[in-house]
Amino acid sequence: MNGIYRFINTNVPTLGCNLRCDYCYIRQHGDEDILDIKKRDSLFKYSVEHMISALTVERLGGVCMFNISGSGETLLCPDIFEICEGLLRNGHYIAIISNCTVTKEIEKFIRLKQEYRDRLFFKASFHYQELKRRNLLNTYASNINALKKNGIAFSIEIVSNDGVLSELEELKAWTEKEFGALPHVLAGRSETKLGEFPKFETCLSEEEFFETWDEFKSPLFDYQYTDYVLPHNDEFCHAGVYTGSLEMATGVFFACPGNKKITNMFENTEEPIRFAPMAKACPFPYCFCGFFLQVLAGACNESYNPNVVFGEFRDRKCTDGSHWLTPSIKEVFSHKCSEFHNPLTSAKKTYLNALMKKRYGMENEINIDEYNEVTKEIKYKLKSLKIDKVVIYGYGGIGQLIYDILNDAGIEVVALMDKRYKEIEAKIPVYSPEDAPKEGDAIIVSIFYDYTEIAPKLRNITEKKILSVIDII
Ligand code: SF4
Ligand code: SF4
Repeated sequence: MNGIYRFINTNVPTLGCNLRCDYCYIRQHGDEDILDIKKRDSLFKYSVEHMISALTVERLGGVCMFNISGSGETLLCPDIFEICEGLLRNGHYIAIISNCTVTKEIEKFIRLKQEYRDRLFFKASFHYQELKRRNLLNTYASNINALKKNGIAFSIEIVSNDGVLSELEELKAWTEKEFGALPHVLAGRSETKLGEFPKFETCLSEEEFFETWDEFKSPLFDYQYTDYVLPHNDEFCHAGVYTGSLEMATGVFFACPGNKKITNMFENTEEPIRFAPMAKACPFPYCFCGFFLQVLAGACNESYNPNVVFGEFRDRKCTDGSHWLTPSIKEVFSHKCSEFHNPLTSAKKTYLNALMKKRYGMENEINIDEYNEVTKEIKYKLKSLKIDKVVIYGYGGIGQLIYDILNDAGIEVVALMDKRYKEIEAKIPVYSPEDAPKEGDAIIVSIFYDYTEIAPKLRNITEKKILSVIDII
């Protein structure tokens, strides 16, 4: 059984786009100097080699899928082929979100060896009007059919939009002729409209909207009607572990787009990556991309229908009996990432939830039995590492939280380190981040999201064990 251990949304620093779709909410201007070499060099903080060596199966804990898109056309990102090729060489799967008109780049993927093509998927965004206006319909069709001929999975997807309403019949006839099936439909949504209809961007009534786009018989469109308003705030979310968002330009990793940093994958690469779940601290009122965060990653296990599989949103059976998805991609799209992870202990969930709620400034209540379980597990873990006395690095909200937890666990906090060391009043010594304390068996870094930056600096001034607050349970 092949599946994906983590689904990683990967944002690459694209410079612009070769199309100008009317409804584009990403980027349409300022990309005229796309071939400026100096700019290209300044986009990524790290070399391709460094990025690929940081993203091994070993560091990530398993085979992942990198869902790659840019703020513009993905295939116009400098080094995009080299990055994808490196990730495939590492053993991962790649999904590329593309308008599929950059033939020169697509040809490079077609020439990859079969073993790599088996782990490759193109989400071909279908911008009918713009393709027609630029006389690129044939380019789009021939690129996608070349992917299919060379054993690369793809899916054609149109965003529902009013601009194309008068041409829908023509569009349907064209896609059926070229690709043997109708495109899938992603409902164009307004992020500012919550709750009931109209949450979708349209001038149509709800009934007209549904009837119009339902003609495509796309399970993706049907699903979006149900998943959009499901409450989830009381559920433990595993985004940050089963899935997450990586900024390829810097290595910063988030649980979800718009959330706070969890770690940096490209710093401190001699150590494993420390993933942390969002827990019950999701700052959003709804899960904005449930169709992959939930259906493919399985981030929340209770609120979402476990029987829906992601492959339904991507595959089509063509009139000649062939399929858009290859068998290997169909198989991984038939599973959720959650199937491949061991469940967290209830103490670990309680503890991580407390950390994340503190990070997001949310109130949290822990019942006494759960709290005792947490202190018991922390004591067991630290004693097994021969740690009895610790220094806490960072005495903000999380530092103060673990100060109490550690003391209640019978682990003595003997000193603090903090850049505000002159202002902090405590009964124990408080050091600056540059001064290594003599006390303690280990330093626990409470600022877990900056651990990759802090730990190497601490290693230069002390030989004590250095742990992230994520590691102590
Ligand atoms: S192809 Fe995508 S990024 Fe480019 S203009 Fe159209 S919607 Fe925007
Ligand atoms: S509930 Fe959805 S939006 Fe919120 S953190 Fe989890 S995956 Fe992200």
